[in-house]
Amino acid sequence: MDHPRSGVHYPRSTGEFQAWFRTDADCLDYLEWLRWPAGFVCPDCGYAGGWRLGDGRLECARCQARTSTTAGTVFDRTRTPLTVWFTACWLFATQKDGISALRLQRALEIGSYQTAWAMLHRLRSVLVRPGRDRLAGTVEVDETYIGGEEPGLRGGRARGKKVLTGIAVEVRAPRGLGRCRMAPLADASAASLHAFVADHVEPGATVVTDGWQGYRGLDRLGYVHDRRSQRAARARGDDPGELLPAVHRVASLAKRWLLGTHQGSVDEAHLLSYLNEFVFRFNRRRSRSRGLVFYRVLELAVGHEPVRYQDLIANPQPRAVPPTPPQAHGNPPSLERPPANRPWRTADQVSSG
Ligand SMILES: [Zn+2]
Repeated sequence: MDHPRSGVHYPRSTGEFQAWFRTDADCLDYLEWLRWPAGFVCPDCGYAGGWRLGDGRLECARCQARTSTTAGTVFDRTRTPLTVWFTACWLFATQKDGISALRLQRALEIGSYQTAWAMLHRLRSVLVRPGRDRLAGTVEVDETYIGGEEPGLRGGRARGKKVLTGIAVEVRAPRGLGRCRMAPLADASAASLHAFVADHVEPGATVVTDGWQGYRGLDRLGYVHDRRSQRAARARGDDPGELLPAVHRVASLAKRWLLGTHQGSVDEAHLLSYLNEFVFRFNRRRSRSRGLVFYRVLELAVGHEPVRYQDLIANPQPRAVPPTPPQAHGNPPSLERPPANRPWRTADQVSSG
């Protein structure tokens, strides 16, 4: 949907969120509407039309294929009830800086850290929209090391490995930042840097870089290359570290976010998904409605192939310090909330009677 409306297509407030999604069935119906706003379309044959079976699944009227609303989405094959998923999405979307797995575990009253950790990773996995627009206009590009920091240790002792990360940021005239993109790089070679720019910046854009030789040749890829030399800056008496203020601003925000929300506990294997979350948040930093961000996350989630826990922990890096996902799979109870019958009154009756 191009122009979803608050209070109709997504909740305006936490109160409205709670009123709309009281049961797992409410959540399932919302997902069904998000996935098929104009009615069921068979994912197997593309036929528009079918009927609902007794178990809630939908059957195609042409090929008889049976499908569930969550099949093929990140909610597929999880034992986590949808009320828990929706609350996680709401917290993920409405907390300005996001939420850590530990805080999510506590907020959802689920027993397993692993479940909370895997839910957040599934949500992160949907945040990169396939075929999304590349950056345009004037774009600063640089590379920096990210990750591996550990807070609270004097002398900045590093744990884990820092990962060379490409950063691209739109610069708006006369001042201000537009959208950004970030991605790990294999190295700072011309091949890696050219591929990063081609993936994230629209040809025709003006690409501003420092004097590093790996950026030479961008003009041959269809960019206007504005190369800023550190040596020339020094000769002018300028701070060479301020040649690319936009990427340095975004890099420091990203590092602060990793240290703040995630306590720096981000391992190399999952850095990309954290960077995707940061970029998603940064590019929506001016969104006035957090409910709309919630809607966008769910919209991406229902259009996405499922991510299995095995995929998430593929190539796990050995690490000395928790948190690593615990071994036991959690099976959190639904967050369906039946009327509580005003326990403050009931308690009085019990004590007086
Ligand atoms: Zn079909």
